[in-house]
Amino acid sequence: VNPIAFAGQPLDRADPVRSDPERLAALRADGALLLRLDGLLPELDEAGGLAFAPVADAAPGAELVFLGLRAGRALFAAVPGEGDPDPAYAHRRTWGAIAQLPADDLALFGAARSVLDWHARHRFCARCGRPTAPAKGGWQRDCAKETGGCGAQHFPRVDPVAIMLVECEGRVLLGRQSRFPPNSFSALAGFVEPGETIEEAVAREVLEEAGVRVRDVQYIGSQPWPFPSQLMIGCLGFADSLELAIDKTEIEDARWFTREDVAEAMAKGSDSASFVPPPPQAIANHLLQWWLER
Ligand SMILES: [Zn+2]
Repeated sequence: VNPIAFAGQPLDRADPVRSDPERLAALRADGALLLRLDGLLPELDEAGGLAFAPVADAAPGAELVFLGLRAGRALFAAVPGEGDPDPAYAHRRTWGAIAQLPADDLALFGAARSVLDWHARHRFCARCGRPTAPAKGGWQRDCAKETGGCGAQHFPRVDPVAIMLVECEGRVLLGRQSRFPPNSFSALAGFVEPGETIEEAVAREVLEEAGVRVRDVQYIGSQPWPFPSQLMIGCLGFADSLELAIDKTEIEDARWFTREDVAEAMAKGSDSASFVPPPPQAIANHLLQWWLER
């Protein structure tokens, strides 16, 4: 089984270092490395892994984020001039650049991409509109009173998304959106809204999209998804009826698939007759594998 893409961060995030400017400066002067990026795309070394340069190579005045420690050595990345203008699903170019990265590098890149993109898109205070500056090694932005700001502190976003399998009479409910490749089906998903538990978000999304009432929601596992900063929260819930009422404004189709359908799809991929499963880097693929094996 593949490791969950973007999970398994290899760096020591070293939180005490973030809030200690002197220690951070000492680490920076002691052989620290800079993640080499072209905008928000990684540059690769000869072995196909992430490439690094001496931190002194960073552009003068660049905002640096302290990514963490690897074997005692500090790794940094520079905030690009622009954040990502594309929606979460439009990342074919990025996938081309990162598909072959080792799992450790993928996790390191994912965390860096999320926090760098956040910096690039949050240069101004959401409260008073004045420019903000990185703090805490790049894991915070401050609207400092000393420079005329309002004193607000801003933190990198993580946006929770519930993604769920629903089971009824031994079948599993999957859906597709019109932008999916032909015959592709995946787990239903949606952002958790303010004031909701994860379980409530699962029940609401499945009712909204497929008209199915869900009970007994349980947590399976999660995945950081850096396009730009989702946390995919994988769940399983149960339904008492196979009846569907699909909201075509949310999804194109939803169907119940048997265990045999899912086993065939997972084994054959796009050659499968029943449906094309989600790609191996998606948590939906892991959820289906888990469902087959339980
Ligand atoms: Zn402010």
